[in-house]
Amino acid sequence: MAKPKSFLRSIEMDVAKHSHNCQHNSKHRICAGNVRVKLKTGRKVEYFCIACALETIGRDIETLKEMQENLNKNLSLTEKEE
Ligand SMILES: [Zn+2]
Repeated sequence: MAKPKSFLRSIEMDVAKHSHNCQHNSKHRICAGNVRVKLKTGRKVEYFCIACALETIGRDIETLKEMQENLNKNLSLTEKEE
């Protein structure tokens, strides 16, 4: 069976082994044992604290919704032409 594809390949969740600053906002601290979100962009890796991750995911959901609406509009236009 084909594995379902996903566009979300650049993020994953893990648990910090050591305390460190959030790489999105250096005023935020990620403590050892805290859940964090890992963003992989090419060779670079950035760790987000929960607050920053939630903010970013919220914006991404809005972007995905807009994209979905736009694609749906284009799909119905394509269907009319056939
Ligand atoms: Zn943060």
